[in-house]
Amino acid sequence: MSITIVIMVRTSLLVVFFGSLAFGQQFNGFDLGSLDRSVDPCVNFYKFSCGGWQTKNPLPSDQARYGTFDALQDRNRIVLQNLLETASSNKPGRSPIEQKEGDFYAACMDEKAIDARGTAPLKPDLDRIAVLKNKKDLAEVLAHLFRNGSNPFFNFGSEQDAKDSTKVIAAIGQGGLGLPDRDYYFKTDAKSAEERKQYVAHVQKMFELLGSSPAEAAMKAQAVMTIETALAKGSLDNVSLRDPEKTYHKMTVGELTTLSSDFEWPKFFKDAGGPSIQSLDVSEPDFFKAFKDVIEKTSLDDLKTYLAWHLVDSNTGVLPTAFVQENFNFNGKILRGAKELRPRWKRCVDMTDQQLPDALGKTFVEKTLGEEGKQRTQKMIAELEKAMEKDLQAVDWMSPQTKQQAIEKLHAIANKIGNKAHWLDYANVKVSRDDAFGNSERASEFELARQLNKIGKPVDKTDWAMSQPTVNAYYDPQENDINFPAGILQAPFYDNKADDAVNYGAIGAVIGHELTHGFDDQGRQYDAKGNLRDWWTAADAKAFDALADCIVKQYGEFTASGDVKLNGKLTLGENTADNGGLRIAYMALMDSYAGRQPVPIDGFTSDQRFFLGWAQVWCENHTDEIARQQALTNPHSLSQFRVNGVVSNMPEFRKAFGCKEGQPMAPARMCKVW
Ligand SMILES: [Zn+2]
Repeated sequence: MSITIVIMVRTSLLVVFFGSLAFGQQFNGFDLGSLDRSVDPCVNFYKFSCGGWQTKNPLPSDQARYGTFDALQDRNRIVLQNLLETASSNKPGRSPIEQKEGDFYAACMDEKAIDARGTAPLKPDLDRIAVLKNKKDLAEVLAHLFRNGSNPFFNFGSEQDAKDSTKVIAAIGQGGLGLPDRDYYFKTDAKSAEERKQYVAHVQKMFELLGSSPAEAAMKAQAVMTIETALAKGSLDNVSLRDPEKTYHKMTVGELTTLSSDFEWPKFFKDAGGPSIQSLDVSEPDFFKAFKDVIEKTSLDDLKTYLAWHLVDSNTGVLPTAFVQENFNFNGKILRGAKELRPRWKRCVDMTDQQLPDALGKTFVEKTLGEEGKQRTQKMIAELEKAMEKDLQAVDWMSPQTKQQAIEKLHAIANKIGNKAHWLDYANVKVSRDDAFGNSERASEFELARQLNKIGKPVDKTDWAMSQPTVNAYYDPQENDINFPAGILQAPFYDNKADDAVNYGAIGAVIGHELTHGFDDQGRQYDAKGNLRDWWTAADAKAFDALADCIVKQYGEFTASGDVKLNGKLTLGENTADNGGLRIAYMALMDSYAGRQPVPIDGFTSDQRFFLGWAQVWCENHTDEIARQQALTNPHSLSQFRVNGVVSNMPEFRKAFGCKEGQPMAPARMCKVW
């Protein structure tokens, strides 16, 4: 959700990425040619499984990361491109939805027209900011900017009430930063200092593109940095953000005003649209104290500068080429290490998919998944749930009463597979063939209004947090459901031509991963109904923490790039889900064999093929920059550790490959929560 930021605690399968490459590749569940047989699987299983793939798939110059997920996303993107090219042909007889998606895409593709209009589309909003006469009127301008898709200072939207999951409430949370994470403003190493310097230079260049002199633009960039640093200081770090108790503070609008005066909250809520708001979740109260201080201590001119910066920054995709290039130079090149900008059509396909997800989603599902794909996924989920129940029953560290509640929660998990019960209707979103900027603003306005209109209404469990063509999946602890968009339910995750061992290692483990999220350090704090409620005995919680701590230490030793190691606490939930997911997938595979052991294929036993199926899901190449950024900001471990970390915790792996204890993939100490 790039435009309206909905505050949520959903845990997805992988890093949000921007993938692409030429198509025409073969997609197999398991590929012998991807192996590197010169590597001992007991020394580095990831390299053994993916070394060949890495050699054959050098990083494309417009990518910072390219792997199996990206290859599949590329294939999905081609399907979408074909739909959009047809819909944008402007022939008579287009359906209303084809008009919307087709003209949205056509306007985005029309680089010439966008360049010709220059910064004119920004002018109404820039003027609105410029004429601000006093800080009291900030609320009104801010509400307007939020409606158009810009999110200065904080995030605003709706969410399920953490402690009453039947209700949707309003929520505000920390935000307003231009760097990837609050720690980027304070880290003292040379690389971080350099990134801050480059960021200020980037903001300066953007102001120059808006017409400021270099000297004036430099002062403006400094003002932006000062404000953002103050906001960052009041922000929780990314480990704390995973703690649902630390990010839930329900209060009345009156209490929020006491906490963060100097800002007309009632006016802001009213002008932002949606129903009247009496109470809300103020996710991080300390942040809103920092926000109050910033408004109090910053000059009106500098506040205006900050608003203008975020207006431009959130709209670069629909601004002239010079803005797009400068944005890529910082966010793509410097922060992520990509060498060149992605082709325009890929950016425009992604933008259409993000801003009008249901326009494309419905046709995409019809073209790709089909009823058969849905059914086989459903069947596999049922098998994985059975294995998870067995696993919960078998653990020796949990008391019978907590176990019973855990199983109750498992039974309550709902499955959403590659479809939507209700597709969004974009009839009221005006889309013009010659107005990329306006289209984007109106789509943002529609989405914010849609999110706000949920407030006070029963939870709509049919809604999705991802578009259907997305190659990803997620567990939502408040809805207590697992969600698989159609985009991921294809080879190589599920391959009709592959044997069961490979499929259980791939999509089976992905399903297991999402199920396990309900019982990781974060998910376990929610009950079967999705309420944040402690259903654990104190002794069981303590036992869980001790086992989880083993995983924290294990992954905290992995080096991402240079001297940056993985953050074992930040990645704990995902690592727990990977470990539990592969284990229950293995149990489900064994159940499906019912004692019969299949013969080896291509020289690999079924156990070996199961682990290879898992490993090859994660084959990728990436830049050092992206490895560093991911380790610093993302709850998902880097791919090589998602493979090697998990297999080194499984006795079944060392048995399958004949590894001796003490080898890198067979350490003496193994971690196991589930
Ligand atoms: Zn996950």
